[in-house]
Amino acid sequence: MSGQFPDGIGMTSQRTRNRLVQRLQERGISDPAVLAALRSVPRHLFVDEALASRAYEDTALPIGHGQTISQPYVVARMTEALLGGRSCAKVLEIGTGCGYQTAVLASLVEQVYSVERITPLLRQARARLRGLGLYNTHLKPGDGSAGWAQAAPYDGILVTAAAEEIPEQLLLQLAEGGRMVIPVGGENGKQELVRVTRHGDECYCETLDLVRFVPLVRG
Ligand code: SAH
Repeated sequence: MSGQFPDGIGMTSQRTRNRLVQRLQERGISDPAVLAALRSVPRHLFVDEALASRAYEDTALPIGHGQTISQPYVVARMTEALLGGRSCAKVLEIGTGCGYQTAVLASLVEQVYSVERITPLLRQARARLRGLGLYNTHLKPGDGSAGWAQAAPYDGILVTAAAEEIPEQLLLQLAEGGRMVIPVGGENGKQELVRVTRHGDECYCETLDLVRFVPLVRG
C-alpha cells in the first residue's frame, strides 16, 4: 500500500513514518493490515504545517477549535480492536476531527461514514480526504450521538470522543455481529476504551484499555 500517497521529506519522510510503525509494533499492534494503513497514510498532511515535523511522534497534537488529532498508538489500537482481522464493509466514525482516523479506516474498509459537529474541521477534513483520493469517505456535520441512520446498519462504529455512556442510537445502528469501539466514562479525565459486540438484542462488552479523549458534546 505504501507509495499510494505522496511522500514527505526529512521529518515527514516514509522512513520517519516506518520508524513510527516500528514503535507501534513494539507496543503490541500486530494486525498487518492496520500497520500497513498507518505506514501509508501521511499523518503530516492532517496537521497544521507548523506541526508537520512532529506528525510522526507518537503523541496527540492540537488541530484547532480546542480539539486534537489522536495519538497514532490509540488510532492503531482502536482500529485493530474494531476490525480485528475481519473484513468490514461499512464503518461509521463519530468525531471526524482532522480526518486522519477516517483516512486510516478508508484504506481498510469499503465505505466510511463520519460525523463531526465542528463544521470548519469537517470542511478541512473533506478537502484532505479528497486530496488523497479517498472517495469512499462520506462526511456530514451534526451530533454523532444520533449516528447516521440513513446509511445504517454498520459492521463497525468507532467513536473518537469520550461518552459518559454508550449512546443508544449507536447500538441500534450496529449490524448483527457488528462491533463498536468507544471511550466511556470520565473520571480524572481518563476513560475506559470499551468494545461492544452486538448479538441479536444482546450486547457483549469488553474493556480494552485506559485512554484520554476530548468529550463527546451533545447537540
Ligand atoms: N478522529 C480524530 C479525532 C478527533 S478528536 C482523529 O483522527 O484524530 C474528537 C472529535 O470529535 C473532535 O473533532 C470533536 O469536535 C468531535 N466531536 C465531539 N463531540 C461530537 C459529537 N457529539 N458529534 C460529532 N463529533 C463530535
